[in-house]
Parts: sequence; structure tokens; C-alpha cells
Amino acid sequence: MKQSVKFIVGNWKMHGVSAAVSEALALKEAVDASPMCRIALCPPATLTDRMRAALAGGRVELGGQDCHEKASGAFTGSVSAEMLADAGATLVILGHSERRAAFGETDALVAAKAEAAIAAGLEPIICVGETLEQREAGQAVSVVSAQVEGSLPDGLSERPFAVAYEPVWAIGTGLTPTLEQIAEVHAAVRAAIVKRLGEAARRAPILYGGSVKPDNAAEILTTPEVGGALVGGASLLAEDFLKIIRAA
Ligand code: PEP
Repeated sequence: MKQSVKFIVGNWKMHGVSAAVSEALALKEAVDASPMCRIALCPPATLTDRMRAALAGGRVELGGQDCHEKASGAFTGSVSAEMLADAGATLVILGHSERRAAFGETDALVAAKAEAAIAAGLEPIICVGETLEQREAGQAVSVVSAQVEGSLPDGLSERPFAVAYEPVWAIGTGLTPTLEQIAEVHAAVRAAIVKRLGEAARRAPILYGGSVKPDNAAEILTTPEVGGALVGGASLLAEDFLKIIRAA
């Protein structure tokens, strides 16, 4: 299904202290001055509340980069979905490949986190993607389809959510799949979403992520089934991020 309004999400990862809020403000001013696609920024959790103040009354949405699967408890260092919502987030990235690789997050854990997110009223953006080894073994479609089926909880069927296809080998590397490869995996992700949650979930946007830059955004965003982009490095500076947004 063609998504008419693209959804462009910036993932700041572990970058940004107070001074970086000026980039969010610059983004807000540009976005609010002329109508653009749907836009969100996901700063480090420590900046959520300050970003809420900076973005207040505007169109740029605010998200977290992860949440714990439990609502509260003795989990030193963790942030719950409710805490993110309380600080001003309305969405949350879950199952990013950096968390799957560095923190051993499984599909089942990502699904539990998505349940926690929707219980707190957050819209989850659930990330999937194959490693280079898996792609070279011809397993990209099967790996990604299995991740979608395992990472989407039942509770999502009536709720807003997005899936982000992010080939692990394309994140932060400057490498991107061909448009045909992106289209092939996005079609498989769509099929897996519908198989898992039914026809009602056909509306959920599927974002592409992995080295999206101002110079490749337009062609990626017009690829079939690409409903938007999840952008890491190029979302840190408003000037670069706006070029991607304007290409949408
Ligand atoms: C990401 O972190 O989700 C990402 C896609 O990063 P980059 O755009 O820097 O490749």
C-alpha cells in the first residue's frame, strides 16, 4: 500500500547534551514554517524533557530510543515506557540492531517491550534487519520476516505502530542496499506484518534505515512500500535532516 505521508524519524543514539537542543529548535522552526511530512526526533533519554519544552506547540514529535519491558521495579539504569511518556515522548524505537547485538535483545524481548510501550500509550517503531553474513547467504528475506513475526505482539493489531527495516551492514557505514533489494525486503516485511496481525495492520508504515543521507533520500523514499526513513547520523544536524525531510 502506498503511504501518502512519509514518516521521517531521527535517532540521535548516544549523542547530544543540552547544547544539542538548539538543533531541535532549528528543526522545529523550519518544519513549523512550512508543512512537511510527519517528523519525529528520538534524543537520548536525558534530553527528553528539555526537548519537550523546545518542541512544544510544534509538529515535530518526540520519541525514546528504547524502554524496559517492565513498568517499574529494581532495574538499575533502565527507563520505563511510562517514564518516557511522562517526559514527553509519544513514540519509542525498539529492537534497534545495536541493542539486539550489544545487549542481546531477542525478538521475544522486543515484543515484550512493545507491549510495555503500548500500555504506556507510546507508538512503537520496531526495528528489524539482516547482518551482512545473512544477506550474503541469501537469508535477508527469511531473517527479516522471522524477526517481524517474533517481535510484533498481539496487542499491536489495533494500535499505531511502525516497522523499520534496517540492514545491519548499512547502519553508519555509508553503504545502502540497491533500491530493488529495499523493495524486495519491504514487500516481505509487509507480508509478514499482515500474516502476523491481519489486514488491519496493512496501514502501518515501514521505514527504511541505514545510511539515509540528503543525496539518497529521494530515491529511497519513492521505492515501493517505503513509508519513511529512520535516520541516524544525518539527523544530528538540523540542516542535514531538513534536506532529507524536504526530499520526502
Ligand atoms: C540508525 O541508527 O538507525 C541508522 C539508520 O543510522 P545511520 O543513518 O547513521 O546509518
